[in-house]
Amino acid sequence: MSEALQQQHELTHHCIICGRQKEEGIMIVSEFICEDCETEMVKTDVRDAKYPFFIHRMKRIFYKKEG
Ligand SMILES: [Zn+2]
Repeated sequence: MSEALQQQHELTHHCIICGRQKEEGIMIVSEFICEDCETEMVKTDVRDAKYPFFIHRMKRIFYKKEG
């Protein structure tokens, strides 16, 4: 019989922020950000020390797009 129905969880993406394999998240340009990091970014204050880190990571995405 067919094994086509054998489902594996291959819907994971490599998060560009934390570098982990996650299922839930958002795609920005062609890069994936997991929901944990997205939540983290949303609630991160501009003056927070983590903010420049996120921006730095995000920039890499957009540079890649232009390049
Ligand atoms: Zn992440």
